[in-house]
Amino acid sequence: MPKTSKKSQIVRSPRVRIEFAVLITLRCNFRCSFCIVKDLLEDTELGRGPKDMDYSDFKVLINKLAKRKEKNVCMGGGEPFLHSDAALMASYAAQKLGKTHASITTNMSLFPTDPDAAKKLLKSLGEARLNMSIDREHLRHDKSLPKRIKTAIDSAESYDDLKVIAVARNSYEARHPFPKSVSRLIPMELKQNMDLRFDYYSKMHEHPKTEDLSITFLPNGRVFAILIGASPNIKAMIGDWRKDPLEKFMEWRSQAQYFGLTRFN
Ligand code: SF4
Repeated sequence: MPKTSKKSQIVRSPRVRIEFAVLITLRCNFRCSFCIVKDLLEDTELGRGPKDMDYSDFKVLINKLAKRKEKNVCMGGGEPFLHSDAALMASYAAQKLGKTHASITTNMSLFPTDPDAAKKLLKSLGEARLNMSIDREHLRHDKSLPKRIKTAIDSAESYDDLKVIAVARNSYEARHPFPKSVSRLIPMELKQNMDLRFDYYSKMHEHPKTEDLSITFLPNGRVFAILIGASPNIKAMIGDWRKDPLEKFMEWRSQAQYFGLTRFN
C-alpha cells in the first residue's frame, strides 16, 4: 500500500472520480499532445510494447471486476477499434458488469460513415456505451470525423448509448471544446452530459476540480494508477493484474476517496 504521509497528499477532495480503464490495445492511429499513454504507444510502434489483449485474458479480468461488483469500467487504448475483438469485448463487459458500468472510448476515426454499418456496429456493442472522444486536437487529426460523429448520433437507438468526452488545453477550449460546425451536430442532451477534462499535463492548481484516479490495466498484466489533472508525476506502476489480487489495486481507490490523492512517483 502506498504511503499516506501528510506531505505526500496533494489535495483533499471528495470529488475525486475513480474509473477502471482496460487498455485492450496500445496501438493508435493518432498522436495527441495530451495522450497519457504516449510513451506506451511509442514503445508499441517500435515493437517493444505489449501485444493486444487476448479475448480470453480480457474475460478473466472482467470476471474479476464483476465479482467485486466494480463500476465505471471503460475499455480503451490506444484506439480500441484497431483490436478486432473490441466490440465483442465491450458487449461481454456490459453483460457481466451491467449496462451502465461498461463503456468503450474511441477517437471515432474507425467508426463507419455508412448508416447500416454504423447501426450494426452499435448493436454489436451490446449494452456497452460508446464514448466519443471529440476535441479540437482529434478533429485536426482527421477531417472525416464530423461525418462519423453525425452518423453515430443519427444511428444510436438512444442518447444513453453515447457520451461525448473532450480534453481542453486552456480556458478557451474548456468553453468551446470543438468548433461550431461540430458543436451543432451534437444534441443538447449529449452536451449536458459531456465529460470535459483538462489537458492532463496542465497545472492542477489552475483546474482544481479535475482530479480523477484511473486504475489502468494493460494487456501485458501491468497496472498503473494514473492521476488525471495533476502535474507532474501522474503515473505509477502498482502491480500486475495477472499475479496480484485485485484488492491490492483497490487500496489506491480507498486512499484517493478517503484521504485525498497521493502524489505518484
Ligand atoms: S486518440 Fe487517444 S490513445 Fe490515441 S494518441 Fe490520442 S489520446 Fe492517445
